[in-house]
Amino acid sequence: MTAACLMSTYQPLALSFTRGLGTRLWDRQGREYLDAVAGVAVTNVGHSHPRLVTAISEQAGLLLHTSNLYSIDWQQRLAQRLTQLSGLDQVFFNNSGAEANETALKLARLHGWKKGIGEPLVVVMENAFHGRTLGTMSASDGPSVRLGFQRLPGDFIKVGFGDLKALDAVTREFGARIVAVLLEPIQGESGVQPAPPGYLKALRDHCTRNGWLLMLDEIQTGIGRTGRWFAFQHEGIVPDVMTLAKGLGNGIPIGACLARAAVAKLFTPGSHGSTFGGNPLACRVGCTVLDIIEEQGLLENATQQGERLLARLRVELNEHPQVLAIRGQGLMIGIELAVPQRNLVQRAAQEHGLLINVTRGKIIRLLPPLTIDSKEVEMIVRAIAHLL
Ligand SMILES: *Cc1c(COP(=O)(O)O)cnc(C)c1O
Repeated sequence: MTAACLMSTYQPLALSFTRGLGTRLWDRQGREYLDAVAGVAVTNVGHSHPRLVTAISEQAGLLLHTSNLYSIDWQQRLAQRLTQLSGLDQVFFNNSGAEANETALKLARLHGWKKGIGEPLVVVMENAFHGRTLGTMSASDGPSVRLGFQRLPGDFIKVGFGDLKALDAVTREFGARIVAVLLEPIQGESGVQPAPPGYLKALRDHCTRNGWLLMLDEIQTGIGRTGRWFAFQHEGIVPDVMTLAKGLGNGIPIGACLARAAVAKLFTPGSHGSTFGGNPLACRVGCTVLDIIEEQGLLENATQQGERLLARLRVELNEHPQVLAIRGQGLMIGIELAVPQRNLVQRAAQEHGLLINVTRGKIIRLLPPLTIDSKEVEMIVRAIAHLL
């Protein structure tokens, strides 16, 4: 088999899996791996969860798709669950994270338009990642995402993540044109960078004072990843807009944009839409994922095992010359190395049967399923201590 007929946007490893169950994956040769990537924070309740297998096969036998020309029961149920869990009022369903962020950006545009702002600007963060569509790519930072795609929609102003002085400066200069701030509570793709303490609260106040929307991209941090349903719940604030995807479908594509009522009402019939978005299959899966997290106590498990993993890594890698920092929240943990190390991902898989992710060349990112147990935490710690 050859990949010659695929566009070369990815550089996949020579590793391929045929089966998964819980926290484990098996390759063609039948070798077992412990999955500390979870498809990049997607399979939060683990692979092939029996309740999901039942929900998917049952729904496939009943109804997959009807379009949004008709009301969809599972869509309404999932919207109700998500609004109850988040404190936000209404939901629009998409198929992916980038699309959910596009929905948020469209709301920001309407918010400005309503206020008579002709050339609206959205404040975004250095090292942010929001997706690969033209709009979300423009809101993201870093040459690897943007290079060669000019001219990008230029309606974003970038500030340092956590830098309130920079925010004041852009407020003075562009305040009258700014309509929203978009950010990740913990930056994921740039290497698990949590917002500094108090930053989200300060942003919340700043947005309220200035009539801007606070828009949180919780695509990676949401659905229990950090030990709460949503990362903002650690901070005692509520955003105006929040986007979700990844863990919400556990592998079935789904995205969601949630908003406060006053903001959600900016959309009127015809102002936004999606063919697949919110279909019965994806929404039933979303509901089932939330049920599983609740019934299996996975928020508590993510908190406990996350604390254990962080503490054990700090002990085992204490004063390791290669390790600059170990940080994160819940089961979203980064280990920043002093210099890039070759073949870390391959060696972890080959030598230890452990799947890890490395971002920016030198930050190990751990995103195991929220079902992980203490023994598996120890396996990860041992493997990484050996690797470095
Ligand atoms: C993965 C991710 C996205 C993009 O989601 P897609 O489903 O790949 O479009 C956007 N924002 C954050 C924070 C992400 O982690």
